[in-house]
Amino acid sequence: MVCPAMVAPDDLIPLDDAARPLFAGVDVGGTGVKIGLVDDQGRTIARTKMATLEERGPGDCIERAVRTLRGELDQLGLTMEDVAAVGLGTPGTMDIPRGMILEPPNLPHWRDFPVRDCLAAACGKQVAFANDANAAAYGEYWVGGGRDYESMVMLTLGTGVGGGIIVDHVPVDGENSHGSECGHIIIDYTDDARMCPCGQKGHLEAYASATALVKRTREALAAGRASSLTERVVEGEEVSGLMLAQEAEKGDQLSLDLILETAMYVGVGAVSLMHTIDPGAVILGGAMNFGGRDSPLGRRFLERVREEVRRRAFPIPAQKTVIDFAVLVGHAGYIGAAGIARQAYHKKQG
Ligand SMILES: [Zn+2]
Repeated sequence: MVCPAMVAPDDLIPLDDAARPLFAGVDVGGTGVKIGLVDDQGRTIARTKMATLEERGPGDCIERAVRTLRGELDQLGLTMEDVAAVGLGTPGTMDIPRGMILEPPNLPHWRDFPVRDCLAAACGKQVAFANDANAAAYGEYWVGGGRDYESMVMLTLGTGVGGGIIVDHVPVDGENSHGSECGHIIIDYTDDARMCPCGQKGHLEAYASATALVKRTREALAAGRASSLTERVVEGEEVSGLMLAQEAEKGDQLSLDLILETAMYVGVGAVSLMHTIDPGAVILGGAMNFGGRDSPLGRRFLERVREEVRRRAFPIPAQKTVIDFAVLVGHAGYIGAAGIARQAYHKKQG
């Protein structure tokens, strides 16, 4: 087997350069669906997006997704016959062995729907089904920041905190399709721990999500902490992670403190995951990356996560586990879904 090189996330490869067989990935989100055609080495040949139009229900969305995929194939002079298998990632909750989406908070009209078999019937292909966060983690494991490791954790920092875990090349779905919920590991067990959107207290997401960062910022301002944020809030702006990043870059101490405190929480959560599975890498994805490794603030955030890990982890993992930002950015979901389909396909082929 050819070992994949790291994929430049925004590049498309020409069909003539593609390693067969080809796989399609469908990454369903609350507002948009990303669809991509990738080759056997995880390189993207074509990709497109469409609106989820959640309120029309899953049948409508799946039908449009297949039509869109057929359109992409057609433009390349291909048909569905050229696709070996299709991967599908959706938000949870789900029953992965049965291919059911159960009660997705972001897709209220999609309850109790056999989404995997619906897609398989519409495209006539084997469909591999995964949690969207695990699909994104698999993408990073296959051709992104985790490509050198057999086991990897990905934390997706955005409105919430998503998580994906790959152990010995396999995404961890768990016994009840509730595995890899890294955003809901407990980092504070006390009675006054923060409330998580899931309804339980003290979870990582209640501290380290963008939503939590905004909440902690509002509390600090209400407590009278001096900050250049106050001026913008008085002028009617909503507090956001971006606003904090801007003010921190201009030298506002409170903004910087709150961002680095977020990094500390991420580091605390990362250590528990490291002590559980001993991954080669903990990869940080999601929109809340403070500019990523291209910005001084992003690098400072990352360094603060690493510092917390070094402080709290066992010596060898503290020294060896790579902590870094994700590589594939917005493409990880469909690439990973296609990758999970590929893994199942090759396993079946023996
Ligand atoms: Zn929770």
